[in-house]
Amino acid sequence: MPLALTVALVAGCAHAPADIPPPATGTAAERWRDDVAAISAASPEGRRLAIEARLTEGSFAWQAQPFTLDGEQGTNVLARVAGDAEAPLLLLGAHYDRVDAGQGATDNASGSAVVLALAERFQARPLRHYRVAIAFWDLEERGLIGARAYVEQGGERPAQYVNFDVFGWGDTVWMMTREPEDTLVDATRAASEALGLGLSAGDAYPPTDHLAFIKSGWPAVSYSLVGADEIKGILAMYGGEHPPTPPRVMEVIHSEHDTVEKTDAVAASRGVDAIEAALRQWDAQAVP
Ligand SMILES: [Zn+2]
Repeated sequence: MPLALTVALVAGCAHAPADIPPPATGTAAERWRDDVAAISAASPEGRRLAIEARLTEGSFAWQAQPFTLDGEQGTNVLARVAGDAEAPLLLLGAHYDRVDAGQGATDNASGSAVVLALAERFQARPLRHYRVAIAFWDLEERGLIGARAYVEQGGERPAQYVNFDVFGWGDTVWMMTREPEDTLVDATRAASEALGLGLSAGDAYPPTDHLAFIKSGWPAVSYSLVGADEIKGILAMYGGEHPPTPPRVMEVIHSEHDTVEKTDAVAASRGVDAIEAALRQWDAQAVP
């Protein structure tokens, strides 16, 4: 999530990419945490390499897509997951870039790791009616530039875009949607509640990559995982208010506090389970 205040004036540091840890073999939560750690430990450039290494390891056909927009150069990463070439496209995406402060673990290695987890699950057991692809966007923090480059420079229009940004802990799936009555919202509510999570759905939500799609009239939603008690304060702060006790997420993201240790892999993994179940239910209800 970008904040106008944190627009970086200097390029990211040029450390060599950190070594990427060997593939995790443990539980889904451990695997999610290992992905967050690998992305977070890397330099800004190395974050993309960590994702690409994971895609190669998972036998995904992926492609780095360099772009120039608004005078900025970046690189998105797109990968095919599963499904018929003729089937409508479900695109899952998250930004992988970060601000200069901290490790960008919650914002947004967390969302990137959710996309990797869902990709593995839909690769292992494809959806019935949708072809699934995934995207990792660059330069979200500079103004959704990577996602806008995809939309404005020839990317395929999906039947549904699903974004993930800030998915580090909490008891509530926060869903940005313009269609509060549709089947994806209903499926998300049922799947979340079945796993002991709440759902907050509506169009009051911080700016992130889904807006690049919505501005072009393309169908898009975005998911976060947060504490139920954080949502009101997050919206207040994005609205320019300064509540006396800021919600946790606003004390973590875009600061030196945004580290892997702040994330809760068990909660995030439960969130992944909920989103997977919701998308499968939504897919099962689709009219072929
Ligand atoms: Zn973000």
